[in-house]
Amino acid sequence: MADQMQNQANELRYVSTRGTAPVLGFEDVMLAGLARDGGLYLPDVWPRFTPADIQAMSGLSYAQTACRVMEPFVGSDIAREEFAEIVEAAYATFSHSAVTPLVELGSGQWLLELFHGPTLAFKDVAMQLLGRLMDRTLKRRGGRATIVGATSGDTGGAAIEAFAGRESVDIFILHPHGRVSDVQRRQMTTARADNVHNIAIKGTFDDCQALLKALFNDLEQRDRLSLAGVNSINWARIMAQTVYYFVSAAALGAPERPVRFCVPTGNFGDVFAGYAASRMGLPIDRLVIATNVNDILVRTLKSGRYEPNAVVATSSPSMDIQVSSNFERLIFEAAGRDSVRVCQLMDDLAGQGSFTLSENELAFLRSAFAAEAVDEEQVERTIREVARETGYVCDPHTAVGIAAARRQHTTRIPVVTLATAHPAKFPDAVEAATGKRPDVPSRLEEKLGADERFEIIDNDYDALVAFIEARARVVAEPRA
Ligand SMILES: *Cc1c(COP(=O)(O)O)cnc(C)c1O
Repeated sequence: MADQMQNQANELRYVSTRGTAPVLGFEDVMLAGLARDGGLYLPDVWPRFTPADIQAMSGLSYAQTACRVMEPFVGSDIAREEFAEIVEAAYATFSHSAVTPLVELGSGQWLLELFHGPTLAFKDVAMQLLGRLMDRTLKRRGGRATIVGATSGDTGGAAIEAFAGRESVDIFILHPHGRVSDVQRRQMTTARADNVHNIAIKGTFDDCQALLKALFNDLEQRDRLSLAGVNSINWARIMAQTVYYFVSAAALGAPERPVRFCVPTGNFGDVFAGYAASRMGLPIDRLVIATNVNDILVRTLKSGRYEPNAVVATSSPSMDIQVSSNFERLIFEAAGRDSVRVCQLMDDLAGQGSFTLSENELAFLRSAFAAEAVDEEQVERTIREVARETGYVCDPHTAVGIAAARRQHTTRIPVVTLATAHPAKFPDAVEAATGKRPDVPSRLEEKLGADERFEIIDNDYDALVAFIEARARVVAEPRA
């Protein structure tokens, strides 16, 4: 007992970027998603790995490294052996034995393939773990949750795949009716489990997001439905994404040799995981933020001014984002973890439509990050050239990363571009660039032929709430 109390005293806790939400442990942060003060949770201190710790990772399996990297974040909330079993099961769903294999594109140029999970995009890496961890925590606590999410692309499919059939949750995914690709829609709507509810909203993706936001800000409904968020601001997803930075850097010679990473970026979750890895002791010389023409982060790094424009639709839809939610976490770090300053900047954004970083804050960002915007013509050319020069066929999101990496090339150290989706998810863009449709993996082919199930409802808050209330088991079977 005394030992356990000692342990808990040393454990890291999670604080909100806005400073007024309760300080929580791992399981509560995972279930909360967004903090109640509107901020995002971060560990109160970064755990550190020594060079010897990192050296030792090069001989381990993906799941073994994952346990070592994530254990400090999970702490005593989950026993070590149980956590190891959950991690093992999550990554057994990947079709490649290395889970996230490295492929050499050219001398010193690497791709880290993150798309070997069930829905062929990198969202599976975090979601397969999150689904199991949430289910376990809810079961242990004797509770149930209602997951509601909105998707324009890959998140919905990955979340449904991770939560389908789990006794402790009902999952509702909103997508804009008639506005997602065939492959993406079928990945969601062919799920057969009773706890999965696909909702096609008669509106745009922005309408879906507005409905979702209204629901989470309705604190009475939030508590009544026991709402849980699984979008990319959930800390557990970022945590799971730090792992492949360690796995790949260790394979390429870290800790002796530093590595540069280039990350196709939308909501800033993936690249923030890279920042977290560097704070944990991984020698990353630079993180390159690769965006499509929705280039708010490139403009911010140049001028210090963060100002969303209208979203432009591109061939890399999962990066068609102007408000990069996870960027708030980096601002918190750049401001020396001053939550009053973060609140001030977020007020500026809400009130005037932009905020401006101080010289010091901007210098902090520039010391760790570079940013490159890649237009549609360059994306197409990159897919074509890479296929012709190397035989490797990449998807448009990965192509944004490769084009940015080529501009940030160095001969000194390896440059690793994160390959975030399988080309078969975006067959039209690939065919337009190469003249050939990509091969469809069998796990996707099965889905493409199966029956679809979804409900079409109006873009109306009350209609949405009525739909969810009628089906969420949290409401039907109230907790004692
Ligand atoms: C979600 C997604 C991204 C962007 O990742 P963020 O964490 O939002 O920056 C890039 N590529 C693909 C294929 C994605 O699904």
